[in-house]
Amino acid sequence: MRLFGTSGIRGIADNDLLQLALKVGLAVGKVYGNVVVGCDTRTSSDAMKHSFISGLLAAGSRCCDAGVIPTPTLAFATREFDAGAMITASHNPPEYNGMKLLNPDGSAFNSSQKRQIEEMIFNDSLTVAPWDKIQSSSIYEGAIAKHVERTLQNFSNKFKLKVVIDCGCGAASLVTPYLLEKLGCEVVTMNCYPSGFFPRNIEPTEANLGDLTKATKESGADLGIAHDGDADRMMAVDDKGRFIPGDKLLVLFARQIGAKKVVTTIDASMIIDEMGLTVTRTRVGDNYVSEELKKSGDFGGEPSGTWVFPTISLCPDGVYAAAQIVTIASKQKLSQLIDSIPHYPLLRGSITSEGVVMSKLEPYLMAMEPLSVGNIDGIKLNFKDGWVLVRASGTEPKIRLTAEAKSETRAQQLYDSGLKAIKDCIKASKEE
Ligand code: MG
Repeated sequence: MRLFGTSGIRGIADNDLLQLALKVGLAVGKVYGNVVVGCDTRTSSDAMKHSFISGLLAAGSRCCDAGVIPTPTLAFATREFDAGAMITASHNPPEYNGMKLLNPDGSAFNSSQKRQIEEMIFNDSLTVAPWDKIQSSSIYEGAIAKHVERTLQNFSNKFKLKVVIDCGCGAASLVTPYLLEKLGCEVVTMNCYPSGFFPRNIEPTEANLGDLTKATKESGADLGIAHDGDADRMMAVDDKGRFIPGDKLLVLFARQIGAKKVVTTIDASMIIDEMGLTVTRTRVGDNYVSEELKKSGDFGGEPSGTWVFPTISLCPDGVYAAAQIVTIASKQKLSQLIDSIPHYPLLRGSITSEGVVMSKLEPYLMAMEPLSVGNIDGIKLNFKDGWVLVRASGTEPKIRLTAEAKSETRAQQLYDSGLKAIKDCIKASKEE
């Protein structure tokens, strides 16, 4: 059994999760002597945080509470500690919560660090320190101010742009509007109060950002910006009120910072390979992008909206990315830039798949007769004019399907064939 998914531990915020937070705190506190803890805006975050901190202190670790902050802000503060812990369920609905554990360089705990924590919990080897070694927590002051100050160092210009920001009432509500005002922007805010309830679906996808695209267009703004619950993600809308696909944002950021070596995930568009960059592909999940960037690369990200600028941090930083996209928009209209990048139709979807394993799916997919098959993550079928990726979700019991081709018809054909193969496999498994 595993506790950690692709992006840490997540679940419905119930008795089990609160008890688990205490145990993870006890385990982390046994290994790391000085830990900073932050949380997002969810109604359960304060209770989860105190449960986790209770474990840390009882294990004998020192602990600083940085309050409600975005994950990249916590990552920045973690430089001064042995480890950081973020209480968040990222882009999951408000009834969820979870824990992300970070290293001082901003990277997420790697698989051996996670295994160490899991084993301590499963082996029941958690212990409370002797009474005179139990610690008291203290407050970490100014995490947001320090993160904003560091970000501003890289952006000296004053940008006379109008920006609509939709933080979904997540942790960025406290940071991004303030940062962009400091950069000289005229800021219009939507959903920027940290209520713990998310007025829109918190994942920043095109389907969930209808209000932002409308407001950006109707207010005549230069761009719109959206975050997920913990602001490690950032997505944007152009001056015509069009949602910008993440694959195109990746190209814009790579160009802006003059990156030569870019790291992205296996499900990103093939346009990235046509931009004259050296591209390394990883499994889906920003932690894999960060791990690769530790070895080499100037910039990395994944099309769902996580952007990693390794000179700043190995944690995806939606706040820094917001300043970066404003810089790009100050030079040329985003709509012009976006239209200058080729567009290949790319379809993404998922299907609920309790119990279906990838090995069972393979023969069904091979019937599509691909030119080659890749297995960095799930099964990627390559064709002359496109590709199909089928993979198990790292966070939900779903199979994710992505298809891209050079024409709409072909992309739809590839997507439909992939979907049929998955459905046939699920049907056959139920009949077994
Ligand atoms: Mg997130």
